[in-house]
Amino acid sequence: MCGIVGYIGNKNAQNILMAGLKRLEYRGYDSAGIMTLDEKEKSVLLRAKGKVSELEKRINGNKVEHTVGIGHTRWATHGEPSKRNAHPHAIGDIYIVHNGIIENYQDLKLILEQRDYVFKSDTDTEILGALIDSLYKQSETLLEAVSGALQMVVGAYGIAVMSADNPEEIVVARQGSPLIVGVDEGEVFIASDASALVGHTDKVIYMHDGEIGVCSRDGLELYDGDSHVVRAQVEKLELDVQSIQKNGYDHFLLKEIYEQPDSLRATLSGRIDPKTGYAKLGGLNVSDEQLRDIEHVFIIGCGTAYYAGLLAGYYIEKLVDGVTIHNHIASELRYRSFHVPESTVALIVSQSGETADTLACLTELKRRGVTCLGVVNAVGSTIAREVDGGVYVHVGAEISVASTKAFTSQVVSITIFGLMLAQAKGAGLQLIDEYIEELDALPKEITKVLETKAGEVKKLAKKYASYDHAVFTGRDTLYPTALEGALKLKEISYIQSEGYASGELKHGPIALIDDRMFEVCYIQDNWLYEKSQSNLIEINARGAHAIVITDTDKRLSAEAVVRVSTRLRHLTPLLFNVVSQLFAYHVAVVRGNDVDQPRNLAKSVTVE
Ligand code: GLU
Repeated sequence: MCGIVGYIGNKNAQNILMAGLKRLEYRGYDSAGIMTLDEKEKSVLLRAKGKVSELEKRINGNKVEHTVGIGHTRWATHGEPSKRNAHPHAIGDIYIVHNGIIENYQDLKLILEQRDYVFKSDTDTEILGALIDSLYKQSETLLEAVSGALQMVVGAYGIAVMSADNPEEIVVARQGSPLIVGVDEGEVFIASDASALVGHTDKVIYMHDGEIGVCSRDGLELYDGDSHVVRAQVEKLELDVQSIQKNGYDHFLLKEIYEQPDSLRATLSGRIDPKTGYAKLGGLNVSDEQLRDIEHVFIIGCGTAYYAGLLAGYYIEKLVDGVTIHNHIASELRYRSFHVPESTVALIVSQSGETADTLACLTELKRRGVTCLGVVNAVGSTIAREVDGGVYVHVGAEISVASTKAFTSQVVSITIFGLMLAQAKGAGLQLIDEYIEELDALPKEITKVLETKAGEVKKLAKKYASYDHAVFTGRDTLYPTALEGALKLKEISYIQSEGYASGELKHGPIALIDDRMFEVCYIQDNWLYEKSQSNLIEINARGAHAIVITDTDKRLSAEAVVRVSTRLRHLTPLLFNVVSQLFAYHVAVVRGNDVDQPRNLAKSVTVE
């Protein structure tokens, strides 16, 4: 949530900051700004409401050759999206960009108003800036002032701070919001995520919570919360430029949908062996004996990651007897008085590895001594570092705000964990073999769906794009599929769409069915086929506009039927999900929406 960039070196800072903001825009896009400073302490602060492209228009008439500066693309928490509330904030001698929330900002504001500070914005960030300024007046260095201010602050932050009288340094700090520093000869880059650093340097330092640092042309000096020097660990950045470009696709979302066969191969690589029928996730740090003892699996996530856990939870239940699955929405679990049974392992699912609510659950579970395993995409992210072990899903950069390829690979990774449990517990070998065979075949099966169904789904999307309401239904593994299908559609098309278990329809939602909505019904040709067909008949009887997504050749009465021909059985829901992804994408395009950056949303939700 929100993108921070910073640069100090010998190149044009405006250019570097703007390029960085464009790459980070998916993290927040209601306003943006940059501030650069020259040796004579002359600053240029430019801000604009709206997308980074609006800021770009402002830069065009205000080009300068400064070589140091900070920038921000905002996802508003305190104060409406406006130029006045856009970062960087300038107060006294201080310039600040901030990602996160300062919870005690109102108390601090009262103190600062008594010191004659007058605030121009509604943000919590400006208060933090004023606090730093007030301490800076009595401090030797900016580092001392920032460090003093942060001791008075409650909340989450990633910040980059400059003082108007010192163009030689940028002070950075983090607590709960990500911050990465890239280093090279005579220059330092600051960013909230690695994509902004690609092409500049591959030497990066992932800052930890509580750390504070001073960036200068000599590099990064890093300190812990007690002001002791920390030896910064320089790691190699593995992202490449290709992965953060659209590569000929109209949108990142479409590119990421089409990347799924390859991203899945990366997820599966070295983790399943169809010859031996063996599954293994290196990096879990859990022995076979420990796996054997597990009786409960908590699966925790938010949004799409939660649904991935829900779907994979069904698979684990099918694979392993005697293991109880507990799916939890992180923002709920963290505030509940929940009980963790003996012999529990927790799977912490997050694409970014920075999701604030999920991270809070991780912290609480670790405090209680529960073994926590991460299912994360972003390498080096906070969750990936804090867990006891885990699996990287390895789908590469997912830039579009709506998650697609990460979902598929999260489901697959958790299912492989289920296979490991099944192996360790000596569960049915034949079922394990079937799953491994299907996982192995899945990338090709997805390719087939993309090749054969795209045109048909696009036409369908045109037909239904003008509706404002939709219901998605499914049974068993198709229930989480329906939830995810509905979420994808609402996120990018703004059609009000809800997912329900088919059997629940008659307990309430069926009251909604009328001429003004359409229904997406997932029906698999398995032991639940007749039951699902009955649900379809029930809604047809009430005049539904039903779209069926199915793998059967049997006759089904519906307004439209998308038939996916596949040899899969267990993993068919992941193919149906690809159909829903394409459907949501095309509906959003027809409606003229900003597909990659839907309104009110942002990738990587680092606020509660
Ligand atoms: N709380 C700050 C604001 O509302 C920062 C929000 C962000 O992370 O973008 O301006």
